[in-house]
Amino acid sequence: MKKLSRIFLASANPNKIQELQEMLSPLEIELRSTLDIEENVEVVEDLPTLEGNALKKAKFWYQRTGIPSLSDDTGLEVEALGGEPGVYSARYAGPDATYEDNVLKLLEEMKGIENRSARFRTVVALVSEKELLFEGVCEGEIILQPRGERGFGYDPVFLPDGFNRTFAELNAEEKNRISHRGRALQKLIGFLEDEPE
Ligand code: IMP
Repeated sequence: MKKLSRIFLASANPNKIQELQEMLSPLEIELRSTLDIEENVEVVEDLPTLEGNALKKAKFWYQRTGIPSLSDDTGLEVEALGGEPGVYSARYAGPDATYEDNVLKLLEEMKGIENRSARFRTVVALVSEKELLFEGVCEGEIILQPRGERGFGYDPVFLPDGFNRTFAELNAEEKNRISHRGRALQKLIGFLEDEPE
């Protein structure tokens, strides 16, 4: 595969685009995103796996723009719940659920359960003539009561292994260093840096 000169960030979420731009900035690659084009179309994430949804979004934008396209999909996989909410993490408490609704539902489902092991898993897809997938995992456990004000989603109830602070009690730099998304992106960056000219 020849060295990429441009990447299209295939996300409809401006916060995620900014985070990706920051993390990929050391690479000498021109970054474009849905923010640079007039019409922003949201690709429906309706497939049963993180891999399927990540590939669906990246393929859609590669076909539309002709620029190698990058997307990601993340889920929280709780061992005692058979891997739920997984690919349904954003809609766990219903189609219009807020982050808080989802956290409350999770704590309710886990009432009385002793095995609190859980992991966040991110799949990053990079689609051009080839389809590449990079996975990042962060292991931890679900605590009994939310703690911390930072971050988003399930951060206040996720205690990463080796830490006594939840994701919502870590600063962005600390979280990015160990997080599922950070790890998947580090793998992607390593791959892009090692590509032959
Ligand atoms: P997405 O694929 O990044 O949109 O993530 C799907 C859902 O997983 C989000 O709506 C959040 O509920 C949850 N999620 C993803 N990443 C994180 C994270 O870093 N911390 C907490 N929750 C997350």
